[in-house]
Amino acid sequence: MKLSTARTAVYACMAAVVVTGLITALVQTPICFILLILALTAELVFFFGWIRCPHCGRHLDRTGMNSEITHCPFCGEPIDP
Ligand SMILES: [Zn+2]
Repeated sequence: MKLSTARTAVYACMAAVVVTGLITALVQTPICFILLILALTAELVFFFGWIRCPHCGRHLDRTGMNSEITHCPFCGEPIDP
């Protein structure tokens, strides 16, 4: 998966977490709580699983979420846009 695709997936899951979180706070049903947990898990999986340098494989953390990043801060290799 490209870094830009992974970034979009993380942001989409983040939005899903916010939306399901608000809905869960309002209606407080178990199904909404389960959906919230699923969205949160998906976000963490995408963040820790795919926000990585394609060359050295290190996790890029919050710098990887920045679309301005062009090179890996660890190995210096260029990162695909
Ligand atoms: Zn690297």
